Amino acid sequence: MSVEIHLGYQDHHKMEDFLASGAPGVGAITLHATGAKHQHGAADAARDAGVSVLYDPRTERLAYDDPSGATQKLPGWTGQVVDIGRLSSSIDDRARLVNAVIAGHPNEVTIVTPPSFYVTDERTSLLNVHLAEATRLATALPVRARVILSSRMPLDLVADLGREYRAAGITSVDLRVSPLNGEKDGIRKISKVFKTADAFRNSGIEVSLGNSGNVGQVAYALGHAESFSVGIGENERVDHAGRMSRQVTPPPPKYDENGRKVGGGGGWEGIYLPGLAATVGRKVGEVLLANTDIRTRISCRIGSCGMSIAGPLSDPRGHYLHARASEVSALTAKPTQWRAASELDRLARALELRQLVNESYQSGPVRALNTRTLQSLVEGINRERAAA
Ligand SMILES: [Zn+2]
Repeated sequence: MSVEIHLGYQDHHKMEDFLASGAPGVGAITLHATGAKHQHGAADAARDAGVSVLYDPRTERLAYDDPSGATQKLPGWTGQVVDIGRLSSSIDDRARLVNAVIAGHPNEVTIVTPPSFYVTDERTSLLNVHLAEATRLATALPVRARVILSSRMPLDLVADLGREYRAAGITSVDLRVSPLNGEKDGIRKISKVFKTADAFRNSGIEVSLGNSGNVGQVAYALGHAESFSVGIGENERVDHAGRMSRQVTPPPPKYDENGRKVGGGGGWEGIYLPGLAATVGRKVGEVLLANTDIRTRISCRIGSCGMSIAGPLSDPRGHYLHARASEVSALTAKPTQWRAASELDRLARALELRQLVNESYQSGPVRALNTRTLQSLVEGINRERAAA
């Protein structure tokens, strides 16, 4: 009933400290696929705080080539890229994969994530159901299946899939609808995402809308999902095809003027600006938070941010955690029927401020902020309130 946070490779100290401070609004954390071995402290702090602990096995990546070799470190790697057809037809291969993924879970985990693959057709969707069921039968812990599917999948097939999972004894899914941009989604996409979540919920399955930022928060407020998840300053969108294409063909390395390699996976540092309901890059955050006309309206006053208007820049991860968690905790404290109106207020204020930035304060790294997803969410909320 809350926001769930995925840990990046380096996020464990921030997460541990935040959880130790109480972490209202946070329902679960997900340990990093290969960084989990450093994340025992965060996992213990989560358990102490009554927060669920999951692990991200990233099994879907095993079905694609990976010249970087990163997938070789994932549980279930057999020395070869997974052949979906073969896995679908071999109960022994499935059992081996399930056992390897369960064994790859750290001991502190309280909910097990079965292996799963991107749903492209009926065969992969049934393969995932079989893998989830085999996992359920092989562990005493609760199991939550990950379902990554195309936003174009017809709703009647999604409903069938929900029934298959329920028949397999699965009562909870981490649902990711791909692609979900997070900033440029139209009303059709938003409404499809909500209906996709409903198709699972109609079968009695709890839904966490994975990697979903504002869309997830609104889905939660409207009752389309029991929870939603984000990374710390990242993972507010879903793009399975893009991510896999970067795995198969990594972008060429970039070099600075001295010939040193720059960039790579760790380049993004997301600065969350609550007033704009936006996570922006560091340079954009610096310019906007230096602007005395708007900075008090876009910044944060929680915790260490109370000392300085530039708080989100001095501790972006700590700030991201307290800002996101406090929004969700405030939402959760409201009666269910008031939550939609509360999100409507938040989004309307953010849209107004984004428009102000776009009209008056574009300069240097600050380009026009996208308003399409926020507008679609406002329209989605209004439609549902009118229908009610
Ligand atoms: Zn803050």
